[in-house]
Amino acid sequence: MTTATTILALDQGTTSSRAILFDRDLHIIASAQQEFPQLYPQPGWVEHDPEVLWQSQCAVMSDVLARADCPPTRVAALAIANQRETVVVWNRHTGQPVYNAIVWQCRRSADACGALKARGLEDSIRAKTGLLLDAYLSATKLQWILDHVPGARDDARRGDLLCGTIDSWLLWKLSGGATHATDYTNASRTLLFNIHTLRWDPDLLALFDIPAAMLPQVVPSSGLAAECRLPVFGTHHPPVLGIAGDQQAALFGQGAIEPGQAKNTYGTGCFLLMNTGPKAVLSHQGLLTTLTAQTRPDAPHYALEGSMFIAGAAIQWLRDELRILDNAADSSAIAAAISNTGGVYLVPAFAGLGAPHWDMYARGTLVGLTRGTGRPQIIRATLEAIAYQCVDVVDAMLADYPHPITVLRADGGAAANDFLMQFQADVLDCPVERPASMESTALGAAALAALALGWHTLDSLAARPPARVFSPAMESDHRRRLLAGWRKAVARAAKWMDS
Ligand code: ADP
Repeated sequence: MTTATTILALDQGTTSSRAILFDRDLHIIASAQQEFPQLYPQPGWVEHDPEVLWQSQCAVMSDVLARADCPPTRVAALAIANQRETVVVWNRHTGQPVYNAIVWQCRRSADACGALKARGLEDSIRAKTGLLLDAYLSATKLQWILDHVPGARDDARRGDLLCGTIDSWLLWKLSGGATHATDYTNASRTLLFNIHTLRWDPDLLALFDIPAAMLPQVVPSSGLAAECRLPVFGTHHPPVLGIAGDQQAALFGQGAIEPGQAKNTYGTGCFLLMNTGPKAVLSHQGLLTTLTAQTRPDAPHYALEGSMFIAGAAIQWLRDELRILDNAADSSAIAAAISNTGGVYLVPAFAGLGAPHWDMYARGTLVGLTRGTGRPQIIRATLEAIAYQCVDVVDAMLADYPHPITVLRADGGAAANDFLMQFQADVLDCPVERPASMESTALGAAALAALALGWHTLDSLAARPPARVFSPAMESDHRRRLLAGWRKAVARAAKWMDS
């Protein structure tokens, strides 16, 4: 009988590295977390030090094993879920990064994207990659490093440099420099990967002037990606058996593996993904088409994705800037204590509006104020706004892919808010399910590894019951009135800035 009974999932996020140890039933045994510094070399630029990131990941790995009193030999497999689109370029001989990791949030290549758009290239790029021409995707970040680090492009042409998203960097480090690979979900966020042929696209590599030899091998999200050869494991070399970008990991962790199943992660922003099965639906509504975690190399499945920039961050704004909340969790009871906002709407377009509006010039707007408007109305309007934004994205998905969602699976920090979950079910007119653990991202990566180990099947993973279901209970006339008000408010926020 094997003594390896745990899966160690690494959740490498934008602000922290985490390690979570799961048992065979995918219950959490222990977790550890460490934040790392965000580097802002110029306004709008965001970087991470790849070595610091790796060190923090190593620290939490050791920490979680110590906390769980788990000898390394009991780790059957590792799994990775990671911040997507962020890129690292390193030297294949020395392992040294040639520049900091350029983070998905970084806007330094916005002009480069604008120039490509002006050349009319967006539609053809989109047809191949499912993505918009935006600086937050990887290609123009890689291009920036090759253009700006002295000698980098020549070194890359000579085959001396490797590049990858954060999963590739971690895999390279975990394998002691033996493996240079990425999974389909991460590849599908780079603007370089053809999501239909499942290959790096030679035309796109030429367009961005990125040598093919720099790119990692693309492997399924579930299956052997590398052997881990870290000193902490001694002579035991557990395999890395699961890899997915954070949002696709969460989709899988939520068991949304059938077409029409959707999840929404309510974190700082919101990421809503709907599985569209084997059909790659190209959006006409400003949504992205992306690969879901692939459990078989020959049967790609796709998702539509809509991201909202500000969700839980609006609650932080109430707490830290307006100072009308002591803590985020209080907002639920305060909102539930009144029956409505009295016609007040908050449009949290603090950083413009994401999907499906894509209006960089929209700004935050509070409308419908009367002499009776007070703290509870504003707090409630803020929570309602999070739910309304998701309705806009779901409506856009419906226009692209006419399969009404039958259930929305929720996770992320703000999914703990009962008022928000009930209001979401009401305005979507669809049940919202909340799992027992909000750790869907790490769970998804661990589940991909569990599948490869034969500990679980797709059916058993999909059958995990939700902890709580919020059922819609709002009259349709009322819902229509509320949504009409929201749309009016969004129109007021739209294009507020002149440039
Ligand atoms: P991220 O992974 O994006 O950092 P998390 O999933 O950890 O985000 O969620 C944190 C966000 O959720 C914060 O913006 C916080 O304001 C919000 N949040 C946390 N708890 C609650 C709550 N009970 N009600 C509303 N918002 C909450």
